[in-house]
Amino acid sequence: MDLWQEQMRYHVNTLEKLKTYINVTDREERAITEMPTRWGTTPYFAALMGRDDPDCPIRRQVVPSIQERENTYGVPNYLIWKENRDTSEIRPDCIARQYIDRVAFTVSDACAIYCRHCFRKELVVDRDLQLRFDVEEGLKWIREHPEVRDVLITGGDPFLFSDEKLDYLIRKLREMPHLQMIRFGTRTPIVLPQRVTEGLKKVLAGRHRVPIWINTQCNHPKEITEQTAQAVYDLLTCGVNVGNQAVLLKGINDDPATFRELHQKLLTVRIRPYYVFYCEPAPGIDHFRTPVEKGAELIRDAIRGHTTGLAQPMYVIATNIGKIPLMPDYYIQGKDEKEYTLRNYQGKTTQWPNIPE
Ligand SMILES: *Cc1c(COP(=O)(O)O)cnc(C)c1O
Ligand code: SF4
Repeated sequence: MDLWQEQMRYHVNTLEKLKTYINVTDREERAITEMPTRWGTTPYFAALMGRDDPDCPIRRQVVPSIQERENTYGVPNYLIWKENRDTSEIRPDCIARQYIDRVAFTVSDACAIYCRHCFRKELVVDRDLQLRFDVEEGLKWIREHPEVRDVLITGGDPFLFSDEKLDYLIRKLREMPHLQMIRFGTRTPIVLPQRVTEGLKKVLAGRHRVPIWINTQCNHPKEITEQTAQAVYDLLTCGVNVGNQAVLLKGINDDPATFRELHQKLLTVRIRPYYVFYCEPAPGIDHFRTPVEKGAELIRDAIRGHTTGLAQPMYVIATNIGKIPLMPDYYIQGKDEKEYTLRNYQGKTTQWPNIPE
């Protein structure tokens, strides 16, 4: 199954198919048979799951859980609120806006895997929310908004589009004089690396006035393989940078050792950590969420000073009014008229002169 289309045709999305990859537990089987949710993965990613380990970090992102029925802390109609869809500004369904100069352009609700922790769960996974994905409508809106200089194409997964459709989308956006960059949010380098074909490389390659940037999503070091490394290298040779947007997930990557290994291993395959997101309060994913401070503590305890600076992502809470960064707060221990007392990752302190205005 070297072709990405075959990976999609043989999507692992029935109990029978899943049983060829893992020993399904009674609880998992109940979730699959009783819940109406959409689920599934590429065979490639399924093969990375631990056969006898229900707590396998990949398996937990792929296989539905009975816990998804519980919802104590999730916000009802989360996506409508989060993406400011309930405002007076008239926008097509496919455009989500939180900033003046950039928008998210949602082009589909199909993915190569249906992540159990997805913040668009209502739309993509559970599908109680329906939106219209009209690429022409989105392009028209962007064309009419010259203040937008950066378009983030997302979904669903836009890289499930054919090469022809992606080529069309990129060409139409590049015709707009006000656009300075195009970004894609796609999990394919991680869950469907076969997608990076010669054809796709032709679509993406070349130095153009309007560059293309990609962010993928990788949450655990086990997700990174030799095929990931090749796919990312191929993207880079097209002049496309690849960043990562991880989601902080309880029991998956919220311990210092895993968190550090993830960010170090991303760099070994040339993926630059960009964001770590707090797991958003969409309904039915309480069991993946940690306290908000957790991400900042992990940067303090596992990343800053402990490893290569390039391995450091920014930890953010993606809210309805934009992304809010949360930093570890130990750096400035004290300040007087003369100097600051600064603290490092080992707890050592040093003095630094305070310059008056
Ligand atoms: C995340 C997001 C962006 C991009 O944010 P950056 O911080 O520039 O990466 C833009 N628009 C929306 C609606 C978003 O959710
Ligand atoms: S790939 Fe992205 S949009 Fe699709 S299910 Fe996963 S998190 Fe959600």
